[in-house]
Amino acid sequence: MTVLLIGPALPPNLQAELTRDLGNYFLSFALAGPVAAFTCIAIAVAAKSLAALFFAGLALAGFLFVIFACRAVRDGADEEQLEELEARYVLGTIIISIGLGGIVASVLARNEPFLAEAVLAMVALATLGAANGTGPGRPLLAVVQFITISLPLGISLALFWPLPWGVAAGCGVFVYGTLCVAMAHRAYAARTELLVTREAQGAERRRLDAALQHLGQAVAILDNDLRVLVINGTALTMLGVEPIDPRNPPAFSELLAKAPNLQKAATDREEFLGHAAMLVAARQPFNAVMHLNDDRMIDMECHPIPGSGWVSVMRDSTGERHAIAELNREIRRCPITGLPNRRAFVEALDQRLARGDRFSLLLVDLDGFKQVNDRHGHAIGDRVITRIGFRLRTADQGLFAARLGGDEFAVLADGDDAAGAHRLARRLIDTIDQPALFGEAEVQVGAAIGIALAPEDGTIGEELLRSADLALLAAKAQPGSHICLFTTELKQKSARVAGVESRVRSALRAGAIDVAYQPLIDLNTGRAIALEALARWRPDSGEAISPDELVAVAEARGLVGKLRRLVLSQAAPVVAGLGRPMNLWLNASVLDLRQPGLVDEVMTELNRAGLPPSRLALEVTETALMTDESACLANLEQLVSLGVGVAMDDFGAGFSSLERLRRLPINALKISGSLLAGAPDQPAAADIFRVAANLGHSMGLMLVAEGVESQAELDLARSAGIHRVQGFALSPPVAAERIADAIASAEAAARAGLRLRAAS
Ligand code: C2E
Ligand code: CA
Ligand code: CA
Repeated sequence: MTVLLIGPALPPNLQAELTRDLGNYFLSFALAGPVAAFTCIAIAVAAKSLAALFFAGLALAGFLFVIFACRAVRDGADEEQLEELEARYVLGTIIISIGLGGIVASVLARNEPFLAEAVLAMVALATLGAANGTGPGRPLLAVVQFITISLPLGISLALFWPLPWGVAAGCGVFVYGTLCVAMAHRAYAARTELLVTREAQGAERRRLDAALQHLGQAVAILDNDLRVLVINGTALTMLGVEPIDPRNPPAFSELLAKAPNLQKAATDREEFLGHAAMLVAARQPFNAVMHLNDDRMIDMECHPIPGSGWVSVMRDSTGERHAIAELNREIRRCPITGLPNRRAFVEALDQRLARGDRFSLLLVDLDGFKQVNDRHGHAIGDRVITRIGFRLRTADQGLFAARLGGDEFAVLADGDDAAGAHRLARRLIDTIDQPALFGEAEVQVGAAIGIALAPEDGTIGEELLRSADLALLAAKAQPGSHICLFTTELKQKSARVAGVESRVRSALRAGAIDVAYQPLIDLNTGRAIALEALARWRPDSGEAISPDELVAVAEARGLVGKLRRLVLSQAAPVVAGLGRPMNLWLNASVLDLRQPGLVDEVMTELNRAGLPPSRLALEVTETALMTDESACLANLEQLVSLGVGVAMDDFGAGFSSLERLRRLPINALKISGSLLAGAPDQPAAADIFRVAANLGHSMGLMLVAEGVESQAELDLARSAGIHRVQGFALSPPVAAERIADAIASAEAAARAGLRLRAAS
């Protein structure tokens, strides 16, 4: 009931807020109140009604009450006074209502002239309406006004005005009064809800404000024009500025510009502000780094707030930046030697080149460092590397030494004079060479150095490094000196090698390899007993590539398997299909012999061609076997057990170990043509050839003289007890189609040679 009458109760602070509104109505009450009151008095006098006069006076008194209460509110009042003023206002309004209600009833009861009654009714209705509008929806007042004004007015109209007008007007007044009560209720509800919501929002803002003020991070909230609306204590302290005046918010850039702690808001202020303005217009987040006077660095980030404005967060990132800088130093340093690492070296190189410096780059590669590691362990290895790094760094003044990795170092020295760089390289090798004691272990390593000069040998880091690398490769290849300067010939050579490589690779991939066949003749019978298969690169438009190069590239690029399969798959059917018994001799690289599936692969190919294994022989070189004998042995032994022959190729051309010869499962020896060349005219050379032949005989091996180019050589071979020969004197290697001719002419040559000998 009370809720219905006066509406929901408000908390005291909101009630005070409601009362404070009364101040706004002072003027309207001050103007309209007396007018209404004096109009009533005039009507009362005109109606000659004492009662009406009394009620008019009452209304005037009520108006005065209300007017003074409103004025007191307007002039400012504390909470306690407000409560009293509210009461005075309510009381005043009730008095006005009673006064107006009374006067209406008494004037209408007297059945006075129509005009006075109408004016009076209007004044009462207007006051009723105004009071409802102005007395901001106090439902209690609306109810009181209904009782004191609407009721008497309506009843009086119905009773005293002529029918049917009186009853109609009376009903109208009731309806109007009821509407006024309802409106007052609704207005009051809306008003109080607004107040409650505003209060809740205010509380929320105060909580956020408190949180913001106590936040460790510096935060500022900006409006759309980047004026500072809120800035917390942390931000104020960080920037060293005074709290802002919220009524006159400063521009953020201005605040930063004036901040005493700030050296500069960004590395380039103007540029930053221009940049920021663009991003602000696009409502994109932006950031900057600010340097404080005490060397601290502040990361500032501004993010747009959905709806309006920006939030700016400032964070002290000094520690983080120091850590990153330290990390950067760390990742540029070799942890073992403390020298700059490859990354730092490349940076230094690029810097010098960009500056246009003239300098020399020396790439240092240690000799025998792997053995140090193997023999003395990695701990000693690391100490050796550290010692060498130190020696390189201190070998001369102003050297920049870096460890590129493993046993590779680089040194940058001022000046691009070749002779000076060469002298420095010599000095570096000499200091590296010094033996050093590590505990018990005395360690000595050598080095090779490749030199490139900047800017002649490369204007960008990568190019200069490649030049020095080529020089280093050459230095390692040439025995003795260990130092090599980059030259354009080196580059051309390497370019040519690269060209050959790529052509060989594509030829092997495309299977563009042919096979040439060279007969091997048995002089005793004058018959060809075997054909040696020799790989031939099928020429394209470029420079010819020799079989030696072809094989070398295939070995270097892991393509020997491809080469072997190409040769065997062509040669086996050719030899099997000759129509007469013939053996196939095949050259095998050490990499072939190491291949795990070799035996199966070879057998499959032989089966396919219908060539029994006993008709195949593999030619292997001793130099090849030197590097990886044990790895090859299993395959060789298995092949031998299947009936495949094994011949030692190029015997006498390289290093020979008699002990190894005895150990290996070989059954033939091909004596190198180099032992035969010129031997017929040089007794000493002929003797060496004979010694080699005797050795083979004494080991019980089948002997072949290869590279036989003349009758004299053929005779020498024969006289040394060798009757199996191969060489240009009999037949050069020929293509498959010409095998029959080649065999025929070789056999003819052999027989002619024999006849010649028999005749002499
Ligand atoms: P190699 O096994 O010693 O082959 C003999 C080489 O001497 C052949 O050279 C042949 O053409 C050449 N020759 C033959 N008779 C005479 C002569 O009377 N005088 C002179 N001066 N030379 C003669 P080619 O064909 O250039 O082969 C070179 C090397 O390439 C071969 O030497 C062999 O080591 C290797 N090779 C060739 N084909 C293959 C192959 O299919 N696989 C493997 N792994 N190596 C192969
Ligand atoms: Ca051979
Ligand atoms: Ca040979």
